[in-house]
Amino acid sequence: MLLNGIYLKERWLTVSEERLREAIDTLKDSGVRITPQRHAVLEYLLNAMVHPTADEIYKALEGKFPNMSVATVYNNLRVLKEIGLVRELTYGDSSSRFDCNTSDHYHIICDSCGKIVDFHYPSLDEVESLAEQVTGFDVSHHRLEVYGKCDGCQKLPAQKH
Ligand SMILES: [Zn+2]
Ligand SMILES: [Zn+2]
Repeated sequence: MLLNGIYLKERWLTVSEERLREAIDTLKDSGVRITPQRHAVLEYLLNAMVHPTADEIYKALEGKFPNMSVATVYNNLRVLKEIGLVRELTYGDSSSRFDCNTSDHYHIICDSCGKIVDFHYPSLDEVESLAEQVTGFDVSHHRLEVYGKCDGCQKLPAQKH
């Protein structure tokens, strides 16, 4: 389990270092100032491979940046979202989650722990066309979520209520 974790972590690091460089280039091209905090938020999102809330990002980085507030994290996420590096996922009344993977992909969500994992499937363009035809809407995008119990939660003993 531990060995597996380390292996995965190393593999993510190499992939995300490359993506971080690309993301920094995008920031530079957009003329956005790269502050240490902005850099850290981006790096965290790329390394995490999860879809954290602003609060989770704040908690992960507050040790490194004692002067940083949740508002700073939100502000940085807004900037990153505006230049297309980060996607915001809203789920009803729970707080937004942020996704650094802006390529077309779908999400599977754990009913027990709320973990969100990416998966790839050819984009369901025909669903958009059909929706447009039958409703007359001008379709902008779609979202698809699959729900279930993640690997980790399946291994946990059943919760007693
Ligand atoms: Zn789970
Ligand atoms: Zn995602």
